[in-house]
Amino acid sequence: MSFNSLGLSQALLKAISKKGYTTPSPIQQKAIPAVLQGKDVLASAQTGTGKTAGFTLPLLHLLSENPKEKFRPIRALILTPTRELAAQVYANVKEYSEFLNLRSAVIFGGVNQKPQAATIRQGIDVLVATPGRLLDLETQGLISLKRVEIFVLDEADRMLDMGFLRDIQRVIKLMPEKRQNLMFSATFSPDIKKLAHGILNHSVQVEATPENTTVDAISQKVYRVAKGLKTNLIIKLISDGNWKQVLVFTRTKHGANKLCEKMVKAGITAAAIHGNKSQGARTKALSGFKSGAVRVLVATDIAARGLDIPLLPHVINFELPNISEDYVHRIGRTGRAGASGEAISLVSADETTFLRDIEKLVGIKIPVDILEGFEPDPNASTEPEKMQQRGARNNRPRNNDRSTSSSSTQKKDSARRPNRNNDSRRSDRRN
Ligand code: AMP
Repeated sequence: MSFNSLGLSQALLKAISKKGYTTPSPIQQKAIPAVLQGKDVLASAQTGTGKTAGFTLPLLHLLSENPKEKFRPIRALILTPTRELAAQVYANVKEYSEFLNLRSAVIFGGVNQKPQAATIRQGIDVLVATPGRLLDLETQGLISLKRVEIFVLDEADRMLDMGFLRDIQRVIKLMPEKRQNLMFSATFSPDIKKLAHGILNHSVQVEATPENTTVDAISQKVYRVAKGLKTNLIIKLISDGNWKQVLVFTRTKHGANKLCEKMVKAGITAAAIHGNKSQGARTKALSGFKSGAVRVLVATDIAARGLDIPLLPHVINFELPNISEDYVHRIGRTGRAGASGEAISLVSADETTFLRDIEKLVGIKIPVDILEGFEPDPNASTEPEKMQQRGARNNRPRNNDRSTSSSSTQKKDSARRPNRNNDSRRSDRRN
């Protein structure tokens, strides 16, 4: 199938060809015609499947067919959970609309709101936003969503994980009832299905990969290892393999910093990306990583969410995530758009339960290896490490990883979803 057969305008086809895309990805083949028909769409697609173009291209097509060039109200709203994802989606919107007479903007927290408000005042057709800053600007009367025709909820599962349910509901009330809704999610929990039920009307359901399964192109492997030997093992793997671009996940911000320092000491260029880093530092780390100047990017789950790093060959879980769905998100950073990739997890005894849960979710037994000199500790406990205490200390919103504002932050805690079936473990997350 070619892009020509999807019904997109010449201006969009030109932008697509400039990007170098020749064939629409499976999610694009399914989502684009449905969106062009004006239908509500519920799409199951993780980052790396081409989902952004899957909703952006038809959205731009629909808006440009019926231009409102004099006074430009916001006609399309794309809501994303994180700043990074908002910036990435916006970059895509800009690229795809290069040959169209449409204006767009992005807003997120953590940076001065003035330039954002000024851009919006000039009139824009497409707004990409994170919930906190959007609601802030709306409350100040700087944004109106009364003319929104198309609403996109990107990474809806992560939105719920981050406690944005209440904000999403507030945003929905600010838009006209009659509008087209597109919802994207990598996983489909009962909570997501409930949210979809409340937002979508007679929706078409499209899937890029089967629910909660990992992409075939990714080879997965577990190294069983003693906790205290993980740092040396990761340094050995990266050095021996001469890996040039590796994304490493840790469970905590502190862990990310610590590992990063040790890598640098071992002569491996590394940068950390997490919620305690300023927007500038995050952008710098990511661009260094993309350009190849930084070999290893150490990230927490929320900071890494949705990062567009094409053709990433290696992902390493320094620690397994305590939420199984995060494993799927993490390894989705590799094997992107058909390229092959490798996902390695370093698993100590206390992570055994997490591993079992992950295998249950992805439906495969992940091959296990033990490297000589890095054997697991036979006496270590298989109990998850101090989960309860940590959970009690950290069960509060992670403001730094969200684009929330002070006005909307307090409500988040009460808005946080009751979790799926691993409540106590979820509360431990400290990204
Ligand atoms: P996404 O899932 O939207 O984050 O996209 C993942 C990556 O695939 C991005 O780097 C896109 O630029 C790229 N991409 C999207 N659509 C296509 C396509 N049809 N052909 C090749 N690459 C694509």
